Amino acid sequence: MHSVILRYYKKFKIMSNDNKSIHNFQFELICEYFSNIERQGPGSTEVTTKALSFIEGLTEKSLIADIGCGTGGQTITLAQHIPGHITAVDLFPKFIDKLNVNAEKHGYKGRINAIVGDMNALPFKKEQFDLVWSEGAISHIGFKRGMNDWNKFIKPGGYIAVSEATWFTPARPKEIYDFWMDAYPEIDVISTKIAQMEQAGYKAVAHFIVPESCWLEGYYAPQHTARELFLKKYGRQQIALDMVANTQREESLYNKYKDYYGYAFYIGRKL
Ligand code: SAH
Repeated sequence: MHSVILRYYKKFKIMSNDNKSIHNFQFELICEYFSNIERQGPGSTEVTTKALSFIEGLTEKSLIADIGCGTGGQTITLAQHIPGHITAVDLFPKFIDKLNVNAEKHGYKGRINAIVGDMNALPFKKEQFDLVWSEGAISHIGFKRGMNDWNKFIKPGGYIAVSEATWFTPARPKEIYDFWMDAYPEIDVISTKIAQMEQAGYKAVAHFIVPESCWLEGYYAPQHTARELFLKKYGRQQIALDMVANTQREESLYNKYKDYYGYAFYIGRKL
């Protein structure tokens, strides 16, 4: 979802209104494709619980926000491992519907409130949350801006935990550099991300690299079946073919260049 949708979003933002209605169809297709898989970004139960292990002091009264929750793979894991109430937000109603159904299935209807919302204009109050969570989504607002903007919603001493696109080496081949400069130029090395987190008013509590298995088994493998189903339904439409080709290109680039980039999790505590 990340780079495919990031590039699409960018295009969408600068389109005229006429173009937008034509491209709404593409929007719907992207949502349908990704709503058929459990996660819309690289991650796993183990990674979510590992990130949680750095966070102390949550109680039944704690309030947690999960921003860019998608269909809520990590939201359910959060509810399983920590007490408190979770408000999960995503731009896409289809994802939110799916999360609400899942929350009810798991018996978390009272603890998870999933709402449609825009991370650029969140309906939250000042210092409302003990923890702000966001997996694979802060790039939609930009890491630096997200760290700064969301800070106000966190109680002093509260936490932020996000996973973010990260370079693992100081230099990288042109092909993958160009790909990311187009998709998300704010991708950077861990040391830069940590400095940005500190400058936004957090103590850098921990960081770790999200394992390759989260990309290969957790994110790309489920897409193989999703692609087949999707093409059966929409395979005669050029837009759908292009979209699938983009996800395949993204996957092959990951296989080729996974030593150079991936996701890292960053956990900070508001000072
Ligand atoms: N956290 C999920 C989804 C990550 S994909 C997971 O790890 O599986 C990124 C998510 O951010 C998508 O679900 C997308 O719909 C959402 N998103 C993108 N722009 C957004 C915005 N402006 N406001 C809220 N959510 C947004």
